[in-house]
Amino acid sequence: MKWQSALGCALLALGFGGSWLGAQSQKVVVIHAAQLFDGKSDRLASNQVIVIQGERILEVGPAGSVKIPAGAQEIDLGTGTVLPGLIEAHNHMFKSWEHGGGIDGEVPAVAVPGTAFSTPYATILAAMNARLDLMSGFTTARDLSSGGTADVDLRNAINEGLIPGPRMRVATEGMRGSIAGPRYFHLVDSPWEGRKQVRVQLKNGADFIKIYAAGIRANKEMGYGAPTLTLEEEQAIVDEAHRQGVRVACTAHAGIAVRQSIVAGCDSIELNTVNDDESVRMAAEKGTFMTFGLTITKLQAQHQNFPMAEMSKASFQRALKAGVKIALAVNATGAHGKQEGPYHGEEGVELKMMVDYGMTPLQAIRSGTSVGAENIGWGDRVGAIEKGKYADIIGVSGDPSKDVTELERVKFVMKGGQVFRNDFKSAKDIPSSR
Ligand SMILES: [Zn+2]
Repeated sequence: MKWQSALGCALLALGFGGSWLGAQSQKVVVIHAAQLFDGKSDRLASNQVIVIQGERILEVGPAGSVKIPAGAQEIDLGTGTVLPGLIEAHNHMFKSWEHGGGIDGEVPAVAVPGTAFSTPYATILAAMNARLDLMSGFTTARDLSSGGTADVDLRNAINEGLIPGPRMRVATEGMRGSIAGPRYFHLVDSPWEGRKQVRVQLKNGADFIKIYAAGIRANKEMGYGAPTLTLEEEQAIVDEAHRQGVRVACTAHAGIAVRQSIVAGCDSIELNTVNDDESVRMAAEKGTFMTFGLTITKLQAQHQNFPMAEMSKASFQRALKAGVKIALAVNATGAHGKQEGPYHGEEGVELKMMVDYGMTPLQAIRSGTSVGAENIGWGDRVGAIEKGKYADIIGVSGDPSKDVTELERVKFVMKGGQVFRNDFKSAKDIPSSR
């Protein structure tokens, strides 16, 4: 570092501006790929070049039309396909059923001995989960409350480059209105308590507000889905959050909780299992996003005495048909002590479920790229390969528009211009053309 500052002083003495030095510290990297999905289109573009300067995309276009800056580091992904890094709309870095429980005394639905672990231990697991997510192609993750404020520290440590992980949007505590439900959520008992909690959580470092609106998952009678909060309480929380310029994600599994959360102005309805024509019509009209977590719901359904998987499938299809904006969400925690997954690092499986239930492969991928970015308020920086966006780019060896399971086998991961994974170098299926 010393020589750099010495050089800086010398250049300043010679009259060179700071911008020259700034530009020099911005390393230029060029990626060549046979196919590119920009995160927004209906098709792949072929034979593309991406020029990256520092952590941002400088230019993207067909090979031959894009000028390759002298001295740039070139990465050739051969016959591979590049895409924007994936965005997980709903995860919990700190919850890890596979390791026997949740944070702060929370007891899993299927209780196992020694269910709780300390916050420091949960934070170590969270660092491991963040790395698994990044290495499997998720360059952005929204964490919907992991208890306390350790998620703020995790986000900051990743941003500072201390540990590898996705860019994170964090909720800190989350709010609920019932005695039942995850213990680490803050209990709100009035509209004013809700407003106060929004202020407290934003002061503590939250990027958005999480409400646990549905006290129960769908039951045999389905429809009901009792909200944990009154409409007045939910509206107060949403109003205060929006007044402060942040979004609100509301877990609403079924029935009344879904409709009430849409009416209250929640920006997304999380992990929906049961909806109806009226709720999806309202969501489409208001632009409310929805997430489903289809894979984990299907796995959990094996332990229920009602057709939860079928209800979840029908609800996803109803929302899709109504034109609701659906964001890719996995809720990766490992399914309730059963060690079935999907676990962190396996989230790509959700895309196949979305395709099995009726999306086209590119529609499913858009839900985890451009649509996913819009859902978390980051449409201006991630979710697309275009000039000015963060260079969050992943690569697969096949054609994900034909086989979406390619995203379960991500081989290249770049976040902010930095390469975290490149399996193409040694892969036999990629002829080295350069
Ligand atoms: Zn969740």
